[in-house]
Amino acid sequence: MPTIIDGKAISTQIKDELKEQVAKMKEQGITLCLAVIQVGADPASCVYVRNKKKACEYIGIESLSYELPEETTQEELLGIIKELNSRKDVNGILVQLPLPKGLDEEKILDAIDPLKDVDGFHPMNVGNLSIGRKGFVSCTPAGVIQLLKRSGIEIEGKECVVVGRSNIVGKPMSMLLLRENGTVTTAHSRTKNLKEVTKRADILVAAVGKPRMITADYVKEGAVVIDVGIHRNEDNKLCGDVDYESVAPKCQAITPVPGGVGPMTIAMLMKNCVESYSLQNQ
Ligand code: NDP
Repeated sequence: MPTIIDGKAISTQIKDELKEQVAKMKEQGITLCLAVIQVGADPASCVYVRNKKKACEYIGIESLSYELPEETTQEELLGIIKELNSRKDVNGILVQLPLPKGLDEEKILDAIDPLKDVDGFHPMNVGNLSIGRKGFVSCTPAGVIQLLKRSGIEIEGKECVVVGRSNIVGKPMSMLLLRENGTVTTAHSRTKNLKEVTKRADILVAAVGKPRMITADYVKEGAVVIDVGIHRNEDNKLCGDVDYESVAPKCQAITPVPGGVGPMTIAMLMKNCVESYSLQNQ
């Protein structure tokens, strides 16, 4: 039977460590504050924003909430970001995606001070990751690395295959596995003979955005399989990019959905918030 990697337990462990760290910082008179900006009322975004604020509260990070109407203009939003960039008491700025049509996501994310970009989406932070400099790393792939490390799974020297090359998940995931000395292949929709590629993987990360696409015939016997996908199936139940039922029996270890990668994203956002202080004061 495979090891089921418990993302809920690992994320709680990380949040508890951060809570302690934040308490110690408070003793030294240091407080942390995350500004969360939401434009419109997309139901999924409302849930994510609520969970982010709850995590801040748990860890002891202050949160500033900006709930802006759907009609907010680009200039208004840029104005708020500019003000938050200049505020000494604000350590992190997060703009919840997706933004309503009419707002230029790229321009808005580029406007965030890279030293406050706790989502790790700013080109400066993406560049820092690729050349091995300090900076914020996109939370979901950073969470995957923590899941592997804290489950005692070695990355160094392993064949790692990432299916997906988005800017938020696939690409930073590949960069991080490379940083950990994995031998990394990034597969995508134009990859030929995908099954042959994925079957080489000792560590297979599925970030493909297609429900249960990765079935047993994509996976080598004894592989570690990390499922980044989140979908609702026909019965409104959560499922991933991996067909868990058929894949799990072949694996050394696997993440479930829910309870695998999902809870790690917010834990890593909190870690970025805590680390923002030292980045801003180096
Ligand atoms: P995107 O849709 O942006 O990217 C999907 C990637 O998969 C693309 O690079 C695409 O290739 C590739 N792809 C699509 N179809 C195939 C195929 N048939 N064969 C091979 N590759 C394919 O998705 P995201 O990266 O944003 O998200 C991936 C998944 O992770 C989604 O299910 C999403 O819901 C989930 N997610 C989960 C998070 C969490 O907290 N757990 C956070 C963020 C995302 P190409 O570039 O060629 O189009």
